[in-house]
Amino acid sequence: MKPIIGITGNMLIEENGIFPGIERAYVNNDYVEAVVLAGGIPVILPILKGEGILEKLLETVDGVLISGGFDINPLTYGEEPSKELEFIYPDRDEFDLNLIRIANKLGKPILGICRGLQILNVAFGGTLYQDISHIEGNYIKHFQSTKNNAATGHTVEIVQGTIIGSILGESAVVNSFHHQAVKKLADGFTVTARSKDGIIEAIEKKGDPFTVGVQWHPEKMISGGSIEMLEVFKKLAKASENL
Ligand code: MN
Repeated sequence: MKPIIGITGNMLIEENGIFPGIERAYVNNDYVEAVVLAGGIPVILPILKGEGILEKLLETVDGVLISGGFDINPLTYGEEPSKELEFIYPDRDEFDLNLIRIANKLGKPILGICRGLQILNVAFGGTLYQDISHIEGNYIKHFQSTKNNAATGHTVEIVQGTIIGSILGESAVVNSFHHQAVKKLADGFTVTARSKDGIIEAIEKKGDPFTVGVQWHPEKMISGGSIEMLEVFKKLAKASENL
Protein backbone atom coordinates (compact mmCIF):
# COMPACT_ATOMS: atom_id res chain seq x y z
CA MET A 1 0.00 0.00 0.00
CA LYS A 2 1.34 3.40 -0.95
CA PRO A 3 1.49 5.75 2.07
CA ILE A 4 -0.70 8.84 2.16
CA ILE A 5 1.43 11.93 2.83
CA GLY A 6 -0.32 15.04 4.12
CA ILE A 7 1.35 18.26 2.94
CA THR A 8 0.66 21.28 5.14
CA GLY A 9 -1.06 24.01 3.17
CA ASN A 10 -0.07 27.61 2.75
CA MET A 11 -2.20 30.71 2.13
CA LEU A 12 -2.01 32.81 -0.99
CA ILE A 13 -3.43 36.28 -0.52
CA GLU A 14 -4.53 37.64 -3.91
CA GLU A 15 -3.50 41.23 -4.52
CA ASN A 16 -5.26 41.70 -7.86
CA GLY A 17 -7.75 39.84 -10.03
CA ILE A 18 -11.50 39.50 -9.56
CA PHE A 19 -11.32 39.05 -5.78
CA PRO A 20 -8.52 41.21 -4.36
CA GLY A 21 -7.75 40.21 -0.78
CA ILE A 22 -9.21 36.71 -1.16
CA GLU A 23 -7.25 33.94 0.54
CA ARG A 24 -6.56 30.74 -1.36
CA ALA A 25 -5.41 27.48 0.27
CA TYR A 26 -2.53 25.98 -1.74
CA VAL A 27 0.82 24.22 -1.81
CA ASN A 28 3.62 24.59 -4.33
CA ASN A 29 3.20 21.79 -6.83
CA ASP A 30 6.83 20.63 -6.60
CA TYR A 31 5.97 19.13 -3.16
CA VAL A 32 3.09 17.20 -4.74
CA GLU A 33 5.26 15.90 -7.59
CA ALA A 34 8.10 14.91 -5.23
CA VAL A 35 5.73 12.87 -3.02
CA VAL A 36 4.37 11.06 -6.10
CA LEU A 37 7.89 10.35 -7.42
CA ALA A 38 8.84 8.97 -4.00
CA GLY A 39 5.92 6.50 -4.12
CA GLY A 40 3.50 8.36 -1.83
CA ILE A 41 -0.02 9.65 -2.32
CA PRO A 42 -0.12 13.41 -1.59
CA VAL A 43 -3.02 15.20 0.05
CA ILE A 44 -3.10 18.89 0.98
CA LEU A 45 -3.90 19.77 4.59
CA PRO A 46 -5.42 23.28 4.57
CA ILE A 47 -4.86 25.75 7.41
CA LEU A 48 -7.78 25.36 9.81
CA LYS A 49 -8.68 25.75 13.46
CA GLY A 50 -10.05 23.21 15.90
CA GLU A 51 -7.97 20.49 17.52
CA GLY A 52 -10.68 17.85 17.15
CA ILE A 53 -10.79 18.39 13.38
CA LEU A 54 -7.02 18.33 13.12
CA GLU A 55 -6.70 15.06 15.00
CA LYS A 56 -9.31 13.44 12.75
CA LEU A 57 -7.60 14.82 9.66
CA LEU A 58 -4.20 13.49 10.76
CA GLU A 59 -5.63 10.03 11.41
CA THR A 60 -6.31 9.84 7.66
CA VAL A 61 -2.64 10.24 6.67
CA ASP A 62 0.40 7.99 7.17
CA GLY A 63 3.05 10.71 7.19
CA VAL A 64 3.33 14.49 7.21
CA LEU A 65 5.34 16.96 5.16
CA ILE A 66 5.63 20.42 6.75
CA SER A 67 6.06 22.77 3.81
CA GLY A 68 7.88 26.09 3.57
CA GLY A 69 6.48 29.62 3.64
CA PHE A 70 6.23 32.84 5.61
CA ASP A 71 8.31 33.82 8.64
CA ILE A 72 7.18 32.43 11.99
CA ASN A 73 5.66 34.80 14.55
CA PRO A 74 8.51 35.26 17.06
CA LEU A 75 6.01 35.58 19.92
CA THR A 76 5.48 31.80 19.51
CA TYR A 77 9.02 31.30 20.83
CA GLY A 78 9.03 34.14 23.33
CA GLU A 79 10.75 36.90 21.35
CA GLU A 80 9.60 40.32 20.22
CA PRO A 81 9.62 41.00 16.46
CA SER A 82 12.89 42.39 15.18
CA LYS A 83 13.08 44.99 12.38
CA GLU A 84 14.26 42.30 9.95
CA LEU A 85 11.18 40.11 10.46
CA GLU A 86 9.21 39.70 7.22
CA PHE A 87 5.51 38.87 6.61
CA ILE A 88 3.95 36.54 9.17
CA TYR A 89 0.61 34.70 9.13
CA PRO A 90 -0.14 33.70 12.74
CA ASP A 91 -3.05 31.36 11.84
CA ARG A 92 -0.62 29.18 9.93
CA ASP A 93 1.82 29.14 12.86
CA GLU A 94 -0.93 27.98 15.20
CA PHE A 95 -2.07 25.34 12.70
CA ASP A 96 1.44 24.00 12.09
CA LEU A 97 2.30 23.93 15.81
CA ASN A 98 -0.88 22.02 16.69
CA LEU A 99 -0.44 19.71 13.72
CA ILE A 100 3.17 18.84 14.60
CA ARG A 101 2.31 18.08 18.24
CA ILE A 102 -0.65 15.88 17.29
CA ALA A 103 1.24 14.11 14.47
CA ASN A 104 4.07 13.36 16.91
CA LYS A 105 1.59 12.09 19.52
CA LEU A 106 0.06 9.81 16.88
CA GLY A 107 3.56 8.56 15.93
CA LYS A 108 3.40 9.84 12.34
CA PRO A 109 6.67 10.35 10.47
CA ILE A 110 7.36 14.07 9.85
CA LEU A 111 9.57 15.82 7.30
CA GLY A 112 9.92 19.60 7.72
CA ILE A 113 11.29 21.67 4.86
CA CYS A 114 12.71 25.21 5.31
CA ARG A 115 10.10 26.99 7.47
CA GLY A 116 8.96 23.40 8.18
CA LEU A 117 12.27 22.69 9.94
CA GLN A 118 12.02 25.97 11.83
CA ILE A 119 8.48 25.39 13.10
CA LEU A 120 9.40 21.80 14.03
CA ASN A 121 12.11 23.29 16.24
CA VAL A 122 9.68 25.84 17.74
CA ALA A 123 6.99 23.17 18.31
CA PHE A 124 9.37 21.28 20.59
CA GLY A 125 10.63 24.34 22.47
CA GLY A 126 13.43 25.70 20.29
CA THR A 127 13.96 29.29 19.10
CA LEU A 128 15.02 31.03 15.88
CA TYR A 129 17.27 33.81 14.66
CA GLN A 130 14.80 36.22 13.06
CA ASP A 131 17.43 37.14 10.49
CA ILE A 132 20.74 35.51 9.61
CA SER A 133 22.47 38.90 9.93
CA HIS A 134 21.97 38.51 13.71
CA ILE A 135 24.33 35.51 13.76
CA GLU A 136 27.91 36.33 14.56
CA GLY A 137 30.36 35.00 11.97
CA ASN A 138 27.80 34.45 9.21
CA TYR A 139 29.30 35.04 5.78
CA ILE A 140 27.49 32.69 3.40
CA LYS A 141 24.64 33.74 1.11
CA HIS A 142 21.62 31.76 2.26
CA PHE A 143 19.19 33.22 -0.25
CA GLN A 144 20.56 32.18 -3.60
CA SER A 145 20.18 34.27 -6.73
CA THR A 146 19.91 31.64 -9.42
CA LYS A 147 17.44 29.04 -10.69
CA ASN A 148 15.63 27.67 -7.66
CA ASN A 149 16.13 24.04 -8.60
CA ALA A 150 19.90 24.45 -8.95
CA ALA A 151 22.11 23.02 -6.19
CA THR A 152 24.19 26.17 -6.13
CA GLY A 153 23.19 27.55 -2.74
CA HIS A 154 26.04 26.36 -0.53
CA THR A 155 27.69 23.26 0.92
CA VAL A 156 26.36 21.44 3.99
CA GLU A 157 28.55 19.29 6.21
CA ILE A 158 26.63 16.29 7.45
CA VAL A 159 26.89 14.33 10.70
CA GLN A 160 27.24 10.59 10.18
CA GLY A 161 25.10 8.05 12.00
CA THR A 162 22.01 10.17 11.26
CA ILE A 163 19.12 9.80 8.83
CA ILE A 164 20.35 12.62 6.57
CA GLY A 165 23.89 11.19 6.79
CA SER A 166 22.65 7.81 5.60
CA ILE A 167 21.08 9.48 2.55
CA LEU A 168 23.58 12.17 1.55
CA GLY A 169 26.95 11.06 2.97
CA GLU A 170 29.43 13.51 4.49
CA SER A 171 28.60 16.62 2.49
CA ALA A 172 26.24 17.92 -0.17
CA VAL A 173 25.66 21.09 -2.15
CA VAL A 174 22.11 22.29 -1.59
CA ASN A 175 19.89 25.14 -2.68
CA SER A 176 19.17 27.84 -0.11
CA PHE A 177 16.21 30.22 0.33
CA HIS A 178 16.04 31.30 3.95
CA HIS A 179 16.80 34.42 5.97
CA GLN A 180 16.02 32.85 9.35
CA ALA A 181 17.68 29.91 11.12
CA VAL A 182 17.57 27.77 14.25
CA LYS A 183 18.99 29.53 17.35
CA LYS A 184 18.33 27.30 20.37
CA LEU A 185 17.81 23.71 19.27
CA ALA A 186 14.73 22.05 20.78
CA ASP A 187 15.34 19.48 23.51
CA GLY A 188 15.44 15.96 22.16
CA PHE A 189 16.77 17.04 18.77
CA THR A 190 20.22 16.74 17.27
CA VAL A 191 21.86 18.83 14.54
CA THR A 192 22.57 16.67 11.50
CA ALA A 193 23.97 19.23 9.03
CA ARG A 194 25.49 22.71 9.07
CA SER A 195 26.67 25.18 6.46
CA LYS A 196 30.36 26.16 6.60
CA ASP A 197 29.47 29.31 8.57
CA GLY A 198 27.92 27.11 11.24
CA ILE A 199 24.24 27.70 10.49
CA ILE A 200 22.01 24.73 11.29
CA GLU A 201 20.83 23.15 8.03
CA ALA A 202 19.28 19.86 9.17
CA ILE A 203 17.94 18.40 12.42
CA GLU A 204 16.31 15.20 13.61
CA LYS A 205 14.50 14.11 16.73
CA LYS A 206 16.38 11.47 18.67
CA GLY A 207 14.55 8.24 19.34
CA ASP A 208 11.62 8.92 17.03
CA PRO A 209 11.34 6.73 13.94
CA PHE A 210 11.39 9.66 11.49
CA THR A 211 11.17 13.31 12.56
CA VAL A 212 13.53 15.17 10.25
CA GLY A 213 13.97 18.80 9.18
CA VAL A 214 16.02 20.24 6.34
CA GLN A 215 16.62 23.94 5.81
CA TRP A 216 17.03 23.62 2.02
CA HIS A 217 14.38 22.67 -0.57
CA PRO A 218 14.83 19.06 -1.76
CA GLU A 219 11.51 19.21 -3.66
CA LYS A 220 12.86 21.97 -5.90
CA MET A 221 16.09 20.04 -6.48
CA ILE A 222 14.01 16.95 -7.35
CA SER A 223 12.12 18.97 -9.95
CA GLY A 224 15.57 19.86 -11.31
CA GLY A 225 16.37 16.13 -11.58
CA SER A 226 18.18 15.37 -8.30
CA ILE A 227 18.07 11.61 -7.61
CA GLU A 228 19.92 12.14 -4.33
CA MET A 229 17.26 14.51 -2.93
CA LEU A 230 14.47 12.18 -4.04
CA GLU A 231 15.93 9.75 -1.48
CA VAL A 232 14.93 12.20 1.29
CA PHE A 233 11.30 11.95 0.17
CA LYS A 234 11.62 8.19 -0.29
CA LYS A 235 12.77 7.86 3.33
CA LEU A 236 9.66 9.72 4.50
CA ALA A 237 7.46 7.52 2.30
CA LYS A 238 9.17 4.35 3.54
CA ALA A 239 8.85 5.37 7.19
CA SER A 240 5.16 6.15 6.63
CA GLU A 241 4.57 2.82 4.87
CA ASN A 242 5.72 0.86 7.90
CA LEU A 243 2.94 2.11 10.15
MN1 MN B 1 21.19 27.69 3.86
